[in-house]
Amino acid sequence: MDNNQLIEGIKTLKEKLNAVILVHNYQWPEIYKIADFIGDSLELARRASETDADIIVFCGVKFMAETAKILSPEKIVLLPNLEAGCSLADMANAEQLKEMKEQYPNAAVVSYVNTTAEIKALSDVCCTSMNALKIVESLPNKDIIFLPDKNLGNFVAKNSSKNIIIWEGYCKTHHDLDAKFVNEMKERFPDAEVIAHPECREEVLELAQCVTGTGGMAKYARGSKADDFIIATECGMVEKLNEDVPDKNFHSFCNVCPYMKCTTLPLVLESLKEMKHKIEIPEEIRIKAKKALDKMLEIK
Ligand code: 13P
Repeated sequence: MDNNQLIEGIKTLKEKLNAVILVHNYQWPEIYKIADFIGDSLELARRASETDADIIVFCGVKFMAETAKILSPEKIVLLPNLEAGCSLADMANAEQLKEMKEQYPNAAVVSYVNTTAEIKALSDVCCTSMNALKIVESLPNKDIIFLPDKNLGNFVAKNSSKNIIIWEGYCKTHHDLDAKFVNEMKERFPDAEVIAHPECREEVLELAQCVTGTGGMAKYARGSKADDFIIATECGMVEKLNEDVPDKNFHSFCNVCPYMKCTTLPLVLESLKEMKHKIEIPEEIRIKAKKALDKMLEIK
């Protein structure tokens, strides 16, 4: 089957089964074509909590599908490829977090959504790259355990009045980018502005005119006087920005997240045909994790 046939097959089955397909910005462009909604992790979580579909197919990574299941337990949530994990999420384990909570008994725990359900269940509130600062500032506690991304934690620490206790995790795709890469790109595109994801190292963020999650990049580019932008994040974002802001130019480093990119059209079709892979979360963990996610979603 070619891509057009696969897309038609997926759309037909999706209608028949009353399924919704949620797609993260980093996915392949052909995956955008089957999407009911494309967005960042915050928007996708909101959509997952509001949909009246019976089935949610998640074209993103596992923690995003888990978030959908935590928020909508009565729905079937499918992840087309179980390989779609997240090495950052794997850097935080529950035992370590429990120890840290004992060490800092007065601290609130803010966990990035890029975590397992178990970590969310041990957290006071979740956050994404778009609302991390707002969430941290909304808490009464002075001390905040922030996990698992050290670069986002550092960015929050620099911009807030709180004492941020930073976890030692990182996203390889973002952490691999350094100032040398950005400066080389700036030599090639001297008039370009730099838009960087806050999971990038501090030395990259210092070179950026705008630091924002994937959900804020198009808005910044539209509002800027610049015509060219160097995008420091997973390179799929450039495809999305080219679609959303066609009158401007976006340049990137071709750094691919292998987890985000392992979802394909044949796997999505197979997941709808065979109802796989169903995400399940033990109820005891789900209820606690939902509290942390609900608290995040309440903060607009
Ligand atoms: P966003 O919330 O900015 O889309 O980030 C998702 C992500 O996993 C970045 O690595």
